[in-house]
Amino acid sequence: MNLLYQSTRGGEKDVTASQAILKGLACDGGLFMPTQIPKLDLTMKELAGRSYQETAYEVMKLFLTDFTEEELKRCIACAYDQKFDTQVIAPLVKADGAYYLELFHGSTIAFKDMALSILPHLMTTAARKNHVDQEIVILTATSGDTGKAAMAGFADVPGTRIIVFYPKDGVSRVQELQMVTQKGDNTAVVAIHGNFDDAQTGVKKLFSDKGFGRELADKGFVFSSANSINIGRLIPQVVYYVYAYGQLLNSGEIADGEKIHVTVPTGNFGNILAAYFAKQMGVPIDKLLCASNDNKVLYDFFVTGTYDKKREFLLTISPSMDILISSNLERLIYLSAGCSCEKTAQMMASLAESGAYTISEDMRQQMADFVGGFADQQQDKDSIRRVYEDTGYVMDTHTGVACAVYQNYRAKSGDETKTVIASTASPYKFSRSVMEAIEGGSLPEDEFQVIDQLREISGVEIPRAVEEIRFAPIRHTRTCRIDDMKKTVAEILGL
Ligand SMILES: *Cc1c(COP(=O)(O)O)cnc(C)c1O
Repeated sequence: MNLLYQSTRGGEKDVTASQAILKGLACDGGLFMPTQIPKLDLTMKELAGRSYQETAYEVMKLFLTDFTEEELKRCIACAYDQKFDTQVIAPLVKADGAYYLELFHGSTIAFKDMALSILPHLMTTAARKNHVDQEIVILTATSGDTGKAAMAGFADVPGTRIIVFYPKDGVSRVQELQMVTQKGDNTAVVAIHGNFDDAQTGVKKLFSDKGFGRELADKGFVFSSANSINIGRLIPQVVYYVYAYGQLLNSGEIADGEKIHVTVPTGNFGNILAAYFAKQMGVPIDKLLCASNDNKVLYDFFVTGTYDKKREFLLTISPSMDILISSNLERLIYLSAGCSCEKTAQMMASLAESGAYTISEDMRQQMADFVGGFADQQQDKDSIRRVYEDTGYVMDTHTGVACAVYQNYRAKSGDETKTVIASTASPYKFSRSVMEAIEGGSLPEDEFQVIDQLREISGVEIPRAVEEIRFAPIRHTRTCRIDDMKKTVAEILGL
């Protein structure tokens, strides 16, 4: 029996996994959800000794039931290979009383690689399966890391094009350089005069623009998404939570069945939702600590039950979490409303119209596994410095937020449950902020001198992804206003 997918807003039903991946976003603006979250069919003990690739197969086969074993195994083998600088793919490092799950060993040194190394393979397989002969145009909004990771995956993949919109002054220097130096004839990068929410809202609008859709179809194009609104992003992210538990079990750090907490630095709510999926599949996870930066819309939501995006958008040293509209929360809303499409659609309409919605007491209870927390920029920096001074371990500014939130929770609650912290980027991606946190004072103007300093104090080799951009020529200089995104896409595609 195939596991089928439906829109959280009720407008599409009985969609196969491969169709949901191809579409990205449902035609009513909702997100695709499986009609049920499957249970693992192996015990955690059985999974404990498995490789990353084997674990990926065991998890993903349960969601992507219309992919054959051979297809799925091939996608996995192509994704999790030497592009990663460690055979373990997602190592777990014990430091400062927690377990850091390092998700940044892929080709663009942020956790987005975990899903975006496999998404192009899933998508091209899905296209073959569904006899799609149009060119797939991946339209992507990025808060800094998705754009590069998606382009790395889709560059020069036949039958695809990719267009990335990033906030002009809202990403780190390394993030920007990674994007504007991207190779590949099918890639386009556009800096928008706006923030991530503007970019994401603009992209979602283009998806639901029926007239534009027809125009594209006439020219042989079809849109899809590489953002975590695509279920094909979310499912590969479930894998590393299953794998992390297996590693803890395998190394004797926990007993079989022992519950752990997970702390995730959160923006669009995709990564932490994947951890929740892992819990629903049967991984003994207790609490999910949702860590926000100064843009603490999610923290306020978990404390009050009201989601209110009407507030100032702040630019912080953890730019990939500078988000006020966390798209994937819609999936949790849907689940907590007992899979009611009507209720979900109502709340999303309220968010679009008035900028806020409030959930019922019953729904809040359904979300009791989530604990909201936030850390401001000073707490972020203090955590990075403290852990470096105490242990020598250097973390990036996003992981620093999670570290601060976790230690704060632990001190306040006295809860000593073993905890996995998702470490979402290499510190090299945010070298300047990390060095400011650790050394303070004034740093050299030149980004690469700062990077060399980080190399000296951390003893961690500079990743290939950073060396690559040191002398790479800039290939993309396009900018656009928020209102001109449609025009820009049309121009790039030559419509
Ligand atoms: C994207 C990103 C996040 C936020 O992840 P979500 O799935 O959007 O919540 C956190 N840290 C880094 C480094 C990221 O790139």
